[in-house]
Amino acid sequence: MKLKFFADRMLGKLAKKLRILGFDTLYFSDISEDEILKLCKAEDRTLLTRDRIMFIKATKEGIESFFLKSDRWYSQLKAVKNKFKLSFEKSSLFERCIECNCVLEYVEKEKIKNRVPEYVYLTNNQFLECPKCHKIYWRGTHVENILKDLNKIFEG
Ligand SMILES: [Zn+2]
Repeated sequence: MKLKFFADRMLGKLAKKLRILGFDTLYFSDISEDEILKLCKAEDRTLLTRDRIMFIKATKEGIESFFLKSDRWYSQLKAVKNKFKLSFEKSSLFERCIECNCVLEYVEKEKIKNRVPEYVYLTNNQFLECPKCHKIYWRGTHVENILKDLNKIFEG
């Protein structure tokens, strides 16, 4: 089974990258410590945190927790990858909404015609939509750029 994460308040960028990689990752910029611990327990999530006190608290409560030293997402992702032996599967990339963590759904091309730039509409055939925020996703050049970054992390 794939690991599920909870990224602490300071880890917004890392949360987005984990979502891109297909990992179920909760993140809220505004949430109390107690709520974080409660959610981790209830949903069997691994807590990622930059806060040493939070790390100790969570560990005491039996929550799997990982303390991140770096404040840069790049190094954080590398550390998470090494710690949990994450692998990088191209096929599971962009399964989730970067903003809300929801699993994306395929949407018929015709339906989103007026919701993406014309060039994007004409040059892509597969579109995904977030059921929550309704953001539309497609595999454009932005995906290639992210892939380049991720490749560097996962190869090294
Ligand atoms: Zn969304």
